[in-house]
Amino acid sequence: MAALLRASLPSGQLFISASSDSPADGPFAGLSGKPLGAFKIDGSPLKMARTRNARLTKLGSIERKPTFKTEASEEPYGLNRQLTEYEKQRLEGKDFGLDIFEELKFRFRKFKRETYMKNMVHYRNLSQRQTPKFMVIACADSRVCPSDVLGFRPGEAFTVRNVANLVPPFQHGASETSAALEFAVNSLEVPCILIIGHSRCGGIQALMRMKVGSDSRSFIKDWVSIGKGARLSTEAAAGSLSFDMQCRHCERESINGSLLNLLTYPWIEKRVREGTLSLHGGYYDFVNCTFEKWTLVYREGMEDGSKYDIKEHSLWS
Ligand SMILES: [Zn+2]
Repeated sequence: MAALLRASLPSGQLFISASSDSPADGPFAGLSGKPLGAFKIDGSPLKMARTRNARLTKLGSIERKPTFKTEASEEPYGLNRQLTEYEKQRLEGKDFGLDIFEELKFRFRKFKRETYMKNMVHYRNLSQRQTPKFMVIACADSRVCPSDVLGFRPGEAFTVRNVANLVPPFQHGASETSAALEFAVNSLEVPCILIIGHSRCGGIQALMRMKVGSDSRSFIKDWVSIGKGARLSTEAAAGSLSFDMQCRHCERESINGSLLNLLTYPWIEKRVREGTLSLHGGYYDFVNCTFEKWTLVYREGMEDGSKYDIKEHSLWS
């Protein structure tokens, strides 16, 4: 049973305690108010030399340490030395039983030293305002981070991620996706919206497996039912194929459904019609590591009488 964290902040202090049933278990093992010696996390000895005999830690004292300066004003005192020691220990293969948050702390400090501090002008400008070129809607799947795949730098992409990268229609009402769209389009005035789908999407599989007409209380099923139009068109076009192939089809089809749903938002439709906002689809296949990109064209008087068309389809490999 995971230890409990109890925190309160009277008089600027942080109090941490562990439950008594499993004092040496979980990420807060040892934070019991008793002196810290050597203890184990996942079976590895973790010798906390610097925190031995530590009791309750004053939050204010942490924030006042010069090492934790947050402004891009100068090299933080002692940061390089700490990183050097840590990196040296890692390179030597010493097992310090570091938990996952120690790893994150290391990565953050590496980011601060190698990215933030070396691009202070950029980050100083970002601290004043953001003018992203893209509004990105991507899946919450942990394997498909848009910044990793497309290299977005901080400030470039206003991003919302949800299950199956779906955009509900305007009539659906408030959602975190529609709120993000409203801010990105009306306040930030992004010139491009890019919806990114991906291979082996669990949300699309849930959509394709969903029993029609079932009265489910699942949040997932309620959410992915936004893409039921894509499922119907998939079944019509690819119903004879295997379930996996139908999902591959639906993963793309649902992106187009979401692109059309974008046009149900009056302030998006107006900007697209005026030519100040463009709508794009993307599909990241992490099995073969390819990326497809296309553009939704929307205007009156197309040759076939439709208002929509897909153009500029390209495959990046
Ligand atoms: Zn997904």
